[in-house]
Amino acid sequence: TKWVYTFGDGKAEGKADMKNLLGGKGANLAEMSNLGLPVPPGFTITTEVCTYYYQHGNTYPAELKGEVEAALAQVGQLAAKSFGDAANPLLVSVRSGARASMPGMMDTVLNLGLNDETVEAVAKLAGDRRFAFDSYRRFITMYSDVVLGVSHHHFEEILEHYKLQKGFTLDTELSADDWAALVVKYKEKVNAELGKPFPQDPHEQLWGAIGAVFSSWMNARAITYRRLHTIPESWGTAVNVQSMVFGNMGETSATGVAFTRNPSTGENALYGEFLVNAQGEDVVAGIRTPQDLTEKARIAAGSDKPSMEKALPDAFKEFERISHVLENHYRDMQDLEFTVEKGKLWMLQTRSGKRTAKAALRIAVELAAEGLITEQEAVGRVDPAALDQLLHPAIDPKAERKVIATGLPASPGAAAGAIVFSADEAEAWKEQGRKVILVRVETSPEDIHGMHAAQGILTARGGMTSHAAVVARGMGKPCVSGAGALRIDTAAQTLTVNGQTFKKGDHITIDGGTGQVLAGEVAMLQPELSGEFATLMGWADKVRKLKVRANAETPADARMARSFGAEGIGLSRTEHMFFDAGRILAVREMILSDDETGRRAALAKLLPMQRDDFVELFEIMKGLPVTIRLLDPPLHEFLPHTAEETAEVAKSLGVDVERIERRNKELHEVNPMLGFRGCRIAIAFPEIAEMQARAIFEAAVIAAKKTGEAVVPEVMVPLIATKAEFDIVEKVIRETAAAVEKETGAKLTFQVGTMIELPRAALRAEEIAKGAEFFSFGTNDLTQTCFGVSRDDAGTFLGPYVQKGIIETDPFVSIDVDGVGELVKIGVERGRKSRPNIKLGICGEHGGDPASVAFCHEVGLDYVSCSPFRVPIARLAAAQAAL
Ligand code: ADP
Ligand code: MG
Ligand code: MG
Repeated sequence: TKWVYTFGDGKAEGKADMKNLLGGKGANLAEMSNLGLPVPPGFTITTEVCTYYYQHGNTYPAELKGEVEAALAQVGQLAAKSFGDAANPLLVSVRSGARASMPGMMDTVLNLGLNDETVEAVAKLAGDRRFAFDSYRRFITMYSDVVLGVSHHHFEEILEHYKLQKGFTLDTELSADDWAALVVKYKEKVNAELGKPFPQDPHEQLWGAIGAVFSSWMNARAITYRRLHTIPESWGTAVNVQSMVFGNMGETSATGVAFTRNPSTGENALYGEFLVNAQGEDVVAGIRTPQDLTEKARIAAGSDKPSMEKALPDAFKEFERISHVLENHYRDMQDLEFTVEKGKLWMLQTRSGKRTAKAALRIAVELAAEGLITEQEAVGRVDPAALDQLLHPAIDPKAERKVIATGLPASPGAAAGAIVFSADEAEAWKEQGRKVILVRVETSPEDIHGMHAAQGILTARGGMTSHAAVVARGMGKPCVSGAGALRIDTAAQTLTVNGQTFKKGDHITIDGGTGQVLAGEVAMLQPELSGEFATLMGWADKVRKLKVRANAETPADARMARSFGAEGIGLSRTEHMFFDAGRILAVREMILSDDETGRRAALAKLLPMQRDDFVELFEIMKGLPVTIRLLDPPLHEFLPHTAEETAEVAKSLGVDVERIERRNKELHEVNPMLGFRGCRIAIAFPEIAEMQARAIFEAAVIAAKKTGEAVVPEVMVPLIATKAEFDIVEKVIRETAAAVEKETGAKLTFQVGTMIELPRAALRAEEIAKGAEFFSFGTNDLTQTCFGVSRDDAGTFLGPYVQKGIIETDPFVSIDVDGVGELVKIGVERGRKSRPNIKLGICGEHGGDPASVAFCHEVGLDYVSCSPFRVPIARLAAAQAAL
């Protein structure tokens, strides 16, 4: 096995498609070298070494040492320097790099190879003692922090103290001697903390850093990050060792980060930040305010600090050229890191950039328009789940805005919630069902779980490329960063701004589109779905095979579903209509009746109301299929449960309180999920199914007359286990249809079908399909009954199950392909055996989950049905499944 791959000087042993072996960073450094771009030479220790390391008690393969030595020598040759040499030392950075970018991993160590001797040589060679000692103190800080476990706070304190003593405010005021003096103090601190001196041997330093990268693969942060992003542990990380270039060599040196297109809006314009005379992560650390890359951006931001275009024109032109080369080469928007050393540009990283859903759409559509990718590729470029971001509410422009501060519009969408000041608290409050805004001075990878739990994130410090901004955009969470006017007192749990103080739990609203922070909960509006969204969805619709319907019963939901492109209603839950103020009383009267006559009298009151519901639904859906499910939940759900309510209902109905209480007791069930519900109600009280069928058919006649479009209702029987159950209810439905036809003289077209939501129904599908004209897989109940788990009670144990790897993901979120999926497959195959053209769909929550949609495509269903908001997600997921 080859453990080490070199790159530099226009060639490389690796290339971009070797991410599994070299990690993302290493593979792309190799690719950039191969493209002839200016990349400091270096080498990558493969992910296989990481795997080896963990399989062999934290040891390395025997050949590794030799390969690293050889690679170091080659890099030294290219850089005309020699690692560890006292007169002409090669300095390197040690950078982790997994397949997928992972903020939980070890931080980069820069300037490695410096010691008391080599620092003097660097000073002499550069003719700049200040630069040399500035680099050395940075190295000691970083190395101690990430490799030796001596926190950087110690060194920051020493520096602050030193500056205070000397009367300095800015780091730039420190001279070479100041930094040299600090280096002595830093080393003393390390010695005091560890009981041994800071390592002076460059080789010891190097192997220490390499070991730290591999160890960091198993640190808590990395493990959490992997869990949240389902990155397998087996992937391992690579280590990149790269010759240093210096952005801290004075006014013609700089370091920066950029995106080839705007990652927030998708606009095709170079976008980024840089800092003159700075190194490494100074830009993202938020220590100094970074400068804009382009003049245009500088003017737009109203900044008086010169842009890179103005300050370093040659390096900027070269950078602009390279950004085009890379974008054309990778055929995607790139996220770039670079350093300018004495006017010369060096590329340090490229990767496909993270972006908001809005930007993803615009970039995909524009890249296709530019001919760089095909329409189909564009469809594949947008993460369906991320579309959720676009369906985020925005602040109602008519609402009053009490702006308390303005920061950077770091991640779009508006969010409102109670203020919390720690990630743990955000998580705890979320668990209690509260909406929170996580407010921090700045965020770090330790805050990820809190960012997940929060509706939105607000920070006082940090730019558009700060940790909070980058992570929030990735998560699709609204974020306002760098709201500098905020005074956050974590100890007192308060947020003060312009003399106004907010406590923990107070409500605020953030607008990630404008950067505004507003007092209170502000009214919001739903987004408009046009432009690139419509274009891409149009392309998606051309590709997909699955139809997408919505679960809807109210006119508002049905209208929204249509505006999101639903091609019908896959599930209309009639019981939702029973709860409306005007009719719940009649429903209760029906339930309280002792005999059929009483029930029929109450049902007669419900009929016109239910019929009106359906007329409106059919009108809105104009000729599109509408599946209506007969009453499903247990009857006691409709009865009052508190004493107060019971008394009120008794009064309105003119019955005794005792009567209601008795009926409640009779209907009480130990296990309602498996109780008196679904078709069991229609079988015990056929008059209920009869009323509902009548309402549906009469409405179909009325709506067809009104709209001039044929209405084809699909009447659906819930929760059957046997064909005999279906037959009984079907008979009621068909007889009612015949009666309505006779009364109205109209000819009805309709279908009668069933839910497949019990394992027995899936197994007996062949027989059931002899009667049922369609199946709708009710994957919520099917998951409950297949696993024998009640969804409402699963909260207590499902989390640990996922954590322990017993199940990969929550089966109520993403369909369990192996088990529940198997039942669906059986249902499909057996159903088609007796009725080849049977219509097949799914109507659980899973209908809006991209992975489940892909499964539905695989097993050949005709449609998925999901909540209106998820219709666009399902359309795109269905298209991607068909690519
Ligand atoms: P991350 O994965 O956190 O982005 P990187 O390994 O990319 O970490 O390193 C962070 C920053 O350190 C880079 O953006 C770059 O500014 C700086 N850096 C890394 N290696 C070098 C190098 N060889 N020379 C100069 N700067 C470097
Ligand atoms: Mg980092
Ligand atoms: Mg980087």
